[in-house]
Amino acid sequence: MEQKINLVFNLQQAYKYTLRKSNAAERIAKLKALKAAIAKNEDKIYKALQSDLRKSTFESAVTELIFIYGELDFAIKNLSAWMRAKRVGKTLSNPFAKNRLYYEPKGVCLIISPWNYPFQLTMGPLISAIAAGNCVMLKPSELSPATSSIVSEIIAEAFNEQEVASFEGAVEVSTALLKLPFDHIFFTGSTAVGKVVMEAASKNLTSVTLELGGKSPTIIDQEVNLEKAATKIAWGKLVNSGQTCIAPDYVFVHEQQVDEFIELYKAAVHQMYFKTKDQIDPAVYGKIVNPKQYKRLKELVDEAVEKGARINFGGTFEEQNQTIYPVILTQIPTGAKVMEEEIFGPILPIVSYQNIEEVIAQINEKSKALALYIFSTNSKKVKYIIKNTSAGGTCVNDVLIHISNPKLPFGGVNGSGIGSSHGFFGFKNFSHERAVVFQRGVDFNKMIYPPYEGKEWVLNLLKKIM
Ligand code: NAD
Repeated sequence: MEQKINLVFNLQQAYKYTLRKSNAAERIAKLKALKAAIAKNEDKIYKALQSDLRKSTFESAVTELIFIYGELDFAIKNLSAWMRAKRVGKTLSNPFAKNRLYYEPKGVCLIISPWNYPFQLTMGPLISAIAAGNCVMLKPSELSPATSSIVSEIIAEAFNEQEVASFEGAVEVSTALLKLPFDHIFFTGSTAVGKVVMEAASKNLTSVTLELGGKSPTIIDQEVNLEKAATKIAWGKLVNSGQTCIAPDYVFVHEQQVDEFIELYKAAVHQMYFKTKDQIDPAVYGKIVNPKQYKRLKELVDEAVEKGARINFGGTFEEQNQTIYPVILTQIPTGAKVMEEEIFGPILPIVSYQNIEEVIAQINEKSKALALYIFSTNSKKVKYIIKNTSAGGTCVNDVLIHISNPKLPFGGVNGSGIGSSHGFFGFKNFSHERAVVFQRGVDFNKMIYPPYEGKEWVLNLLKKIM
């Protein structure tokens, strides 16, 4: 495999000089070819997602396919404008120069993607990279093998390998790829592996976009429609069985509203995900991706309970089909792992609070979140929370939906990521912003050239202007 990787890398390195000259019409044609290949293989994509994650066709359509069609259409519609050199204002010292910002392709890019939204999170960055005029080598996740295989098929159908090539496999494939001096690396995955990627990239001074994970808190203010909040949180927590990077990881509820919230959450979960009173509906509720993740999640609950946490809801674990019924935990003692590591499963810890200051302090103690959600009808308090915390993105009175607007950047901050994706922001991440100044007319710069004798007046003038 390493030989093949090196061969394709060299092919792409040679081809990037041709590709960088491509105009908007040519890149749009490539995006349309990708769209056609996806459309042709839709049924296979749905089957693959069902096999990897037991995702229903409806959920796959909403969270993977339609999302990618939206991203494709947005790029196709706006690419000419994105590619256009942007005018930039003049400076007093160069009043006649023409200043422009060019978006040039980075060159040969590596995309490494995770298993949880294996189609969307591979195709999304690919669309941005193609729009920006790059060659791409892709490494989809080995933990969603059916989807990774159809992704590779689609890519082979739409592109030559000198332009885009997919390499399936596990860590050893990533490691072989990461040795190469790529012009940019776009990684989506865990914070721990993000550090491995950034370290490898630093050896070649390769730029990186890191879309990572972490714990995304949700704050429910006392002034709130609690039923709406509980329903939205239940959906955001349980879509893809909690295996969503921006799922509400844990929730702060005022101590006087905890019992009511639990009842409303339970009712919402039953309404959306249960077939009978006691039986989850596998047609709408996904499975945990593999036995290792299933075991990790079970241990998170067991450890919290051993340390004194209470299970207020759920706690049914079906090992044979890797299904974990939605869980609510309360009274979680400090030090329990469920409050330390990203949960990435259908377990919702509730942290009760007395005042917002205490909530803000607890959030700011942790690494900056990928998402932070606020439920409140008090706009002053909402603004106060936003101002006093940091997160990649935030929804007020909702969850997850900020990811669906391609006009907004999607990404984390420090521990939850570097750089952003979607729409123009994705295009920009795969481009180098090149400053270009066209000097013309009267050239005042001569005034600052040596010798400096007799030029005190120039210095005085510059000081005045500045
Ligand atoms: P992961 O980091 O284990 O794996 C991601 C990719 O990296 C896979 O392709 C994998 O093969 C590769 N990889 C694994 N170990 C590696 C190593 N040592 N060296 C090089 N490559 C390696 O993540 P995952 O389990 O696939 O996905 C879950 C994580 O991804 C969660 O933390 C989640 O929050 C995060 N995530 C983030 C986003 C986002 O947009 N910010 C989206 C989805 C998932």
